[in-house]
Amino acid sequence: MEIVLTGTGSPLPDANRAGPSTLVKAGDTHILVDAGRGVVMRMAGGGSLPAFLAAVLVTHLHSDHICDLNDVITTHWIMTQGNVALPVFGPAGTAQFVERQLHALEADIGYRIEHHDVLTRGPNVEVTEVEPDDQFAVNDVQVSTAATVHAPARPTIGYRLEHNGTTVALVGDTLPCPGVDTLAADVDAYVQTVIRRDLVELIPNDMVQDILDYHSGVVEAAQTAARVGARRLVLTHMVPAPTAEQYPEWIARAAEHFDGEIVIGDDLTTVTTEQGEAHG
Ligand SMILES: [Zn+2]
Ligand SMILES: [Zn+2]
Repeated sequence: MEIVLTGTGSPLPDANRAGPSTLVKAGDTHILVDAGRGVVMRMAGGGSLPAFLAAVLVTHLHSDHICDLNDVITTHWIMTQGNVALPVFGPAGTAQFVERQLHALEADIGYRIEHHDVLTRGPNVEVTEVEPDDQFAVNDVQVSTAATVHAPARPTIGYRLEHNGTTVALVGDTLPCPGVDTLAADVDAYVQTVIRRDLVELIPNDMVQDILDYHSGVVEAAQTAARVGARRLVLTHMVPAPTAEQYPEWIARAAEHFDGEIVIGDDLTTVTTEQGEAHG
């Protein structure tokens, strides 16, 4: 599988980092996990488009993770003329969110149907709300879910994808928890949204301090990766966003606790997992 970090940013606006999203290419099956700010631009940069998506997996309904789902929906609709469904999987509340997005887009949908004879229907979105410990398939990708811990955002869902003998866990925003351990056990890549506790603690702002109690720090993510035997730790959604010069310091912090490969980078950083990788 190819994992493209389509958005390594956070709610904090950043000229160089799109909001949280990750694209997984499993052969021809493209799966998007979350749809933050700028996701469609970054998908184009990563060699994909909404029309290529076999599914969108939503981890939770925080705005930074879903604010550009409307762009994914609209672009998919126009490029497929509504002839192909866009499957969206997410926790309870996802169906209502999508329905309300479609209401917000009502004027646009009407204009385009009126203007283009080939468009005879609105966006074709098929929402499936998932529970922890669900299993389902997206083409030949096996997906399993588990509960994560990000209260007061609840429910929140993490995903494990298996394809062609390789595995990836994409768990979204969460504290370390049994669900993450289950999803990331022995995976080829464990993708974790992270904050640097030591740096966030220095920021004298109450709302910034509030994020400490519901995110994994870099150290905790590394400890999780080591505990569950992940082969790689992929960091994303970094707060505060590091400069490229600071990447080695972030990696060094994680490497104190995890001796596998640690990936951090700019948007469109890509990780490839291959069948037959040795698990050490
Ligand atoms: Zn969140
Ligand atoms: Zn977030």
